[in-house]
Amino acid sequence: STTPALLDIRNVDTFYGPIQALRNVSLTVQEGEIVSLIGANGAGKSTLLMTLFGQPKASSGQILFAGEDLREVNTPDIASKGIALVPEGRHVFPHMTVEENLMMGTVAIGTEHAEEDMARMYELFPRLRERSGQRASTLSGGEQQMLAIARGLMSRPRLLLLDEPSLGLAPIIVKQIFKILREVARQGMTIFLVEQNANHALKLADRGYVMVNGVIRMTGTGDDLLTNSEVREAYLGGH
Ligand code: ATP
Repeated sequence: STTPALLDIRNVDTFYGPIQALRNVSLTVQEGEIVSLIGANGAGKSTLLMTLFGQPKASSGQILFAGEDLREVNTPDIASKGIALVPEGRHVFPHMTVEENLMMGTVAIGTEHAEEDMARMYELFPRLRERSGQRASTLSGGEQQMLAIARGLMSRPRLLLLDEPSLGLAPIIVKQIFKILREVARQGMTIFLVEQNANHALKLADRGYVMVNGVIRMTGTGDDLLTNSEVREAYLGGH
């Protein structure tokens, strides 16, 4: 296809001091796609997401978003380009209510659509409606993850980035979260997800990438990678 990718990462190198965390990473996400990046703990997945925000900065390569090189954009301005990051470990505001946390998601775009969008979030995440007046600190881990995703969506992003949404959650909760992500994608959202949970991440994804020691080792459709023997051996317990 000749459609330019929404996110087009080309030949990116990233260092922490003398340590090279990303090596010549290239990866694309098309508008409307769900793309998953899988890899072991320490492979460099979080570093790639943080590199999109310039922290740390890529030392070489290009990071094109809707044709604009994000390396030229200051970190605080990146969210307003239409990228929302749901960080690892959720990071909701513990002393704010669910509703106040959702409102924080509108900071980059203003409150014009807030009421309508909040109603949409409560449709997607009925648990959040039930808990709308509670402090975020009183929510379970799964509910906090839902809140973090909903807050990201409140900014009406063109691209939703998720860092390990399954982290520390019980399998049944992980299943719920991925079911909701599938619905979010069905409604048209473009999603780039990094995960150690290869099974869920590849089942959800249109396409996937496998990262090993800062290098993209393999790419293919979600189905191709799920049935690939090397992937099964390394990330799916060999089953
Ligand atoms: P995780 O699932 O644990 O977040 P990951 O695949 O996201 O793993 P990164 O956190 O991106 O991996 O780490 C990639 C490499 O960079 C690792 O070797 C890690 O030790 C190193 N690293 C990460 N953050 C820093 C830092 N602030 N300073 C130095 N080295 C770092």
